[in-house]
Amino acid sequence: MKTQNEPTENRPEDTIPMGRRSFAVFYRLGPKLYVNVTNQCHCNCVFCIRQLGDGVGSAQSLWLIKEPTLDDVKYAYESRKDLSEVDEIVFCGYGEPLERAEDVVIFAHFLKENSKLPIRLNTNGLVRLIHPDFDVNKLAIFDSISVSLNADDADEYLRITRPRFGIGSFDEMLRFAEETKKFSNLTLSVVEGLTPERIENCRNLAKGMNIPLRVRN
Ligand code: SF4
Repeated sequence: MKTQNEPTENRPEDTIPMGRRSFAVFYRLGPKLYVNVTNQCHCNCVFCIRQLGDGVGSAQSLWLIKEPTLDDVKYAYESRKDLSEVDEIVFCGYGEPLERAEDVVIFAHFLKENSKLPIRLNTNGLVRLIHPDFDVNKLAIFDSISVSLNADDADEYLRITRPRFGIGSFDEMLRFAEETKKFSNLTLSVVEGLTPERIENCRNLAKGMNIPLRVRN
């Protein structure tokens, strides 16, 4: 795997040129257009796709030379000629989008104003541990939000997600889900690598919160 300072070449329509190099703000995977806004994350999940390679879908590298500005997002979005096969824009890249919570809200407003596509946020739900003053009601701009549940209890969550905030992270993630479900089409997700018993526990937990659960691979 290359380091963050050695990005591979990306497809021109996904990237922002920067001197002789470029970095991917957007990438395609199936009918989704993904937005890659940061490589920062306060977690270190055992299943994180960043450990498997440099890129996903149409992007050969999702390691950023720099974090994109609103102008970068506008440039990359307006450079894309054809969105006819895209059915959703998803904030999800090689990092936790809400590490840049205020910027993500600004980017989401731009994309809502300039496209008819629904916009989703994929998040670990720990934004208020990262940015204690952030007003989560600003996330109402998203048509849907997917929160990584990851585990059925705090100890397992700590083992799998390895957050820098420690054991209280699980309860904070659940609080975030409870709060954002009031104004958002919210889903909880777990990876299918959990044991069947734990997945069943997650189903019951999600059911008790009246939130759909998605088991992802
Ligand atoms: S929260 Fe997301 S970006 Fe961060 S380590 Fe986990 S899977 Fe990777």
